[in-house]
Amino acid sequence: MSQNHSGKTYDAILIGGGHNGLTAAAYLGRSGLRTLVLERREIVGGCCVTEEIAPGCRASTTSYIASMLRPEVIRDLKLAEFGLRMVPCDPALQVPFPDGHVVPWWTEREQTIAELKKISSKDADTFVRVDDQLKKLARFLQPFFLEPPPEPGTNSLDGWSDMLRVGKRFRGISTTEIAQLISFLTGSLGDFLDRNYESEKIKTLFLANNVYGKHGGPYQPGTALGLLFHLLSGGAEEVQGFYGHVIGGMGSITQALAKSAQSLGVEIRTSSSVAQIDIRNGRARGVVLEDGSEIRARMVLSNADPKRTFLGMIPANELPGDFLRTIRGIKMDGPCAKVNMVLAEEPRFTGTPANAGPLQRSLYTLVPSLEFAERCYDIAKFGEIPEELWVDCVIASNADDSLAPTGQHIMTCFVQYVPYRLREGNWDQKRALLGERVVRKIGEYAPNVPGAITAMQVLTPLDLERTYGLTEGNIFHGDLTLEQLFFMRPVAGWSQYRTPIAGLYLCGAGAHPGGGVTGAPGHNAAQQVLRDVKKGRLKEEFA
Ligand SMILES: Cc1cc2nc3c(=O)[nH]c(=O)nc-3n(C[C@H](O)[C@H](O)[C@H](O)COP(=O)(O)OP(=O)(O)OC[C@H]3O[C@@H](n4cnc5c(N)ncnc54)[C@H](O)[C@@H]3O)c2cc1C
Repeated sequence: MSQNHSGKTYDAILIGGGHNGLTAAAYLGRSGLRTLVLERREIVGGCCVTEEIAPGCRASTTSYIASMLRPEVIRDLKLAEFGLRMVPCDPALQVPFPDGHVVPWWTEREQTIAELKKISSKDADTFVRVDDQLKKLARFLQPFFLEPPPEPGTNSLDGWSDMLRVGKRFRGISTTEIAQLISFLTGSLGDFLDRNYESEKIKTLFLANNVYGKHGGPYQPGTALGLLFHLLSGGAEEVQGFYGHVIGGMGSITQALAKSAQSLGVEIRTSSSVAQIDIRNGRARGVVLEDGSEIRARMVLSNADPKRTFLGMIPANELPGDFLRTIRGIKMDGPCAKVNMVLAEEPRFTGTPANAGPLQRSLYTLVPSLEFAERCYDIAKFGEIPEELWVDCVIASNADDSLAPTGQHIMTCFVQYVPYRLREGNWDQKRALLGERVVRKIGEYAPNVPGAITAMQVLTPLDLERTYGLTEGNIFHGDLTLEQLFFMRPVAGWSQYRTPIAGLYLCGAGAHPGGGVTGAPGHNAAQQVLRDVKKGRLKEEFA
């Protein structure tokens, strides 16, 4: 039996109380394992939190829309009973154009088709064909979300049965569908849209949510993948392409997860930063906290990203050299920022219909064209802050009046394409400049906003790293590109949540299937641990 200084014993320690760490902990707790979550910040939630940004005014400071939270996790962990409530975004997204035309993408397909017909009836017809095709292809990928990828090259019985499982998933797929799937995995969003649509506005509508948080302008190979990714089902009702406002902000998800985990016996400690994973004879035996205290456990699951885990918490001599090299090579280099605002009046975006309800007035993606986006990425990739920014605005208080006192409004703004590494100066010097450019851009579409700001929080990629623990500010714990996905996430050979250290697992967004508030890596890692326990892989630890 292992023991810490307080005399308690643990089967599993989770490093990090992000939504994936909490999800994994809850599943382990549910299976009767004595589980402890150690979170470095004073609150749990990682990048899925609601925080006060001015007295009485709360915002989803980092992630802000729930789209792919796994319905299985919501149900298994009874998140609704623990207070989680989501309201579908309707429209799911909306793009205002510089000519004053605002184009919404409604959740009701017929309504969207009618909206597109106003722009191009040919494109509206294409939309029906393409949407059906995408939804069908996305269904092939859906099951992979909640299971470990196969490890090609393994010769074990498990390895072969994994490969068989994958083969079965594609039973019935046609040659045309395989070709389509490959072209979505490797092709560019821009080329796909140019091939299929004639209207720039309709192409831009597709762009608005499909390269979210990733590297690469819309013409970069691999960017078409987002089209499929966002059609995976989400929300309690398993709706394909679900987008939801979370009542109480995104922190309500992690508060519900924490309560669920605690109800299953999980212990959670905040302000408890892990300095080192304790390894003896190649096995994880517990952790050492920043304050020097040691806590023993039979296994350790890290919710921190792969670089932070393997390069920051484990002595280099405990890991194989080629493994360390591939971990160092993971592309992070976070390309986004976030600006959160309190406003003294509601933003008035030009072109919004006079009869638009609060939900329609709650989200606007400011990106006028694919060319604009491509240029924006080009500038950022050379280490400069684009003068003209792509900003995704959510007026969260229109969907949820609990966030701010009456008369005040919360707007959170995601900034797509800024560099982590600046060519000149540093982010502490350039934070204010970023804030000014975001406000200026929003003012072009909603002229009353610049004069209505009463508080503003600017989170640069460096702030995302410092405050939220994201290496190089990468919001997904590693870019979501084909070479960093599936059996190559976090690195080839280690995609099944295990690591070269026995008893140490990865359970965060750096593991399959990747980033976003899904709960999937946490769920899958916990299932892998439980399978290993059952199969006796962790026999020594459990002896
Ligand atoms: C600005 C921004 C906007 C985003 N927008 C969206 C969105 O709208 N929708 C969406 O689905 N996704 C969005 N994302 C992505 C999504 O939030 C993340 O991919 C996801 O939350 C990652 O969850 P996680 O639990 O794997 O990791 P994290 O949330 O990063 O949690 C890891 C936890 O580990 C803790 N930790 C790290 N090191 C240690 C240590 N040494 N000791 C103890 N604890 C430690 C951290 O403090 C953190 O709490 C956004 C992210 C950001 C940053």
